[in-house]
Amino acid sequence: LLAPDGQVRATIFAEMSALAESTGSVNLGQGFPDVDGPASVARAAAQAIADGRNQYPPGPGIPALRHAVAEHQKAHYGLDPDPDREVLVTTGATEALAAAVLALAGPGDEVLTLEPFYDAYAAVIALSGATHTTAPLRATPDGFRVDLDALATAFTDRTRLVLLNTPHNPTGTVLTPDELAAVARLATAHDALVVTDEVYEHLVLDPGVRHVPIATLPGMAERTLTISSAGKTFSFTGWKVGWVTGPEHLVTAVRTVKQFLTYVSGAPFQPAVAFALRDPDVAAWVRDLAASLASRRDRLCAGLEAAGFGVVRPQGTYFVLADSAPLGFDDGAALCRALPGLAGVVGVPVTAFTHDGSDVDRALRSWVRFTFVKRDEVLDEAVARLSRLR
Ligand code: PMP
Ligand code: GLN
Repeated sequence: LLAPDGQVRATIFAEMSALAESTGSVNLGQGFPDVDGPASVARAAAQAIADGRNQYPPGPGIPALRHAVAEHQKAHYGLDPDPDREVLVTTGATEALAAAVLALAGPGDEVLTLEPFYDAYAAVIALSGATHTTAPLRATPDGFRVDLDALATAFTDRTRLVLLNTPHNPTGTVLTPDELAAVARLATAHDALVVTDEVYEHLVLDPGVRHVPIATLPGMAERTLTISSAGKTFSFTGWKVGWVTGPEHLVTAVRTVKQFLTYVSGAPFQPAVAFALRDPDVAAWVRDLAASLASRRDRLCAGLEAAGFGVVRPQGTYFVLADSAPLGFDDGAALCRALPGLAGVVGVPVTAFTHDGSDVDRALRSWVRFTFVKRDEVLDEAVARLSRLR
């Protein structure tokens, strides 16, 4: 979180997007779509502004959105949160994560994540004063998978919280029922709570793979907070509307912190997201998005392989991890800084998602994360440019 000079670091995404901008590179770094979500949803937000829904909304979120989130959890997963007591609207998943960690963990506690991990986790765990422990994901022929032995030893009697993420950024792993069962068993045995980041829940890219919320496992609903967001599902990443669902006492703790982070979340976006969650045409649009992302994943994976990278095919999310070692590079961070000059492309070093010096950090030192949530012609241009690295 802090650079050696004591300054708070810019996030890797801000740094890499600025580099893409200043060098005119193709930006496959930060994950955001280059095509907006459904026009009907955008119109709903514009209508809400025109209708004067522009002052502070209720702190927990407008009732229509809390009900829509509860209905979504029921329809997709058979979970049944009470919209008045067990659903909280937040300013993106980012605020939900921050408020949950700040509410539930502090000095003396350990918060366990997979490694690599989404960068905000390390920052917010540091802000809470808790210690960040990790369990590795390792490259296998079946994608990046949880090392179950290392997972078991990562739990201690100080593990207060497991901060899970599936589908997983940056690896694209969708955790299997066996992996989830192992986490559930260990969390229960160590009496740890689970906060699960499921922002890519609808972006699962293979027919045989299914997203399973850990809250649906036996006994887990009572110790789990589930987080998601409109950004990824509906391709409106700039709207920053997220939510958290779970048992009343845990949601209340998160709401208490949320009051002092943002107080409330953007009024006119909330009715629009409620509409998006309920509208059948928007649901069909989301299914089409997942299908089109699968084909773009295939396109980028094939292109990266042809360009000489080693690629582990992701099962979900916006991202693929590619190893630059076969091209003769050993430092992904150095490569990402040089890549605009070498090829006119921006990616994110996977070491932005690891602890310095950890075994995962060493194993993934030469790896780069590229996003495929871009139009085909953008992906093709990036691949053509990356082909010059050979
Ligand atoms: N979690 C993960 C794993 C993400 O990749 C992202 C962002 N892209 C977020 C949380 C943040 O979501 P939001 O924009 O809704 O705050
Ligand atoms: N989640 C997106 C990514 O991983 C971007 C998030 C951000 O910019 N903070 O690229």
